[in-house]
Amino acid sequence: MNPLIEKIRADFPILQQTIHGKPLAYFDNAATTQKPQSVIDTITRFYTEENSNVHRGVHRMSQAATQAYELARQKMADFLNASSSAEIIFTRGTTESINLVAYCYGEAFVNEGDEILISALEHHSDIVPWQQLCIRKKATLKVIPIFDNGELDLDAYKKLLSAKTRIVAVNHISNALGTINPIKEMIQLAHEMNIPVLIDGAQGLSHGPVDVQDLDCDFYTFSAHKMYGPMGIGGLYGKREWLEKMPPYQFGGEMISKVTFEKTTFNELPYKFEAGTPNVADAIGLGAAIDYLGQVGWETIRTQEADLLAYGTQQISAIKNVKIIGTATQKASIISFVMNNIHFFDAGTIIDQFGIAVRTGNHCTQPLMERLGIIGTIRASFAFYNTRNEIDRLVDAIGKVNELFE
Ligand code: PLP
Repeated sequence: MNPLIEKIRADFPILQQTIHGKPLAYFDNAATTQKPQSVIDTITRFYTEENSNVHRGVHRMSQAATQAYELARQKMADFLNASSSAEIIFTRGTTESINLVAYCYGEAFVNEGDEILISALEHHSDIVPWQQLCIRKKATLKVIPIFDNGELDLDAYKKLLSAKTRIVAVNHISNALGTINPIKEMIQLAHEMNIPVLIDGAQGLSHGPVDVQDLDCDFYTFSAHKMYGPMGIGGLYGKREWLEKMPPYQFGGEMISKVTFEKTTFNELPYKFEAGTPNVADAIGLGAAIDYLGQVGWETIRTQEADLLAYGTQQISAIKNVKIIGTATQKASIISFVMNNIHFFDAGTIIDQFGIAVRTGNHCTQPLMERLGIIGTIRASFAFYNTRNEIDRLVDAIGKVNELFE
């Protein structure tokens, strides 16, 4: 094994275990990534030494917790190259962030007869909040179609953009197929018609750098647990001009400036959108994950993941009875496939017996599966800590599935 990858694997305690007596090969990284020891230690240290509520204490621990929490926000802002940390709102993750925008932006800017444009590649999290908004406001949900290889039809996209479109919401990378969407071009096209764009970045931040100013996106959502950080924390980048104009949607402590029984004025950004005690420990853990990604470096991550995608595609597509679903030219390290006449749950259960974790099902993209004429796939999603040897083991396990069903 490449000594660098061997060293990286040692940072992840969970990868050292055996499952069903076999070394764990974890290929479910698009669902959630594993956490390095430094992230685990950071959270433990917070609860062991610093645990205290933020923003309203004069005592030392509260000040330390506040400082650490705000430092995490600054790290996230730097990671995305946001122009200010006030443009980073902490939430529970992508789902909550999209709900926030669908509600708050929708409340202020969407009216009867308007259109919301999403794509056929979206996760349920980037469909249902918009659908609900459309019901509330009597607006219409429009869908950018895809080609059979899993790429968006950009000509159709251009035609769907109209004076009625209030927002475009598309994912950066498809969790089900791995397609990397041409979001910069899509944002430019929308902006030519003054339409803001939300990018669902749930899969976008673990494979390469993202620069929200260069992309010029209006909103970018993220989930820490998919970028080697803890569960239960994530957030929303939003351009200040939009965030200022949007009303808050949760009310209570932290988000207020002054409260009387007659009237309340709201706090400044980003606190206006962070009602109640935030998830301080996990925000700090997210900061540690960003530090970790910085140590590993995008060069290493991209090289290893590109190698795994190329090798995996070659090996898996050569197995009889297997068809890869999603063959876009620009792909992240995600391989979805189906096996002729074998249900994905049966395949996944057998593969698990070899200590290999793959995801099976519709990947929260039922409309996409319907468009592709299938009900689900088996998905292997690779992280930089995966190896060719683990892919060889997956290939053997798929061979065993074939044997068992012959
Ligand atoms: N969008 C995409 C593309 C995803 O892959 C996911 C999770 O799999 C989500 C949204 C939802 O993310 P979360 O469950 O962290 O809110």
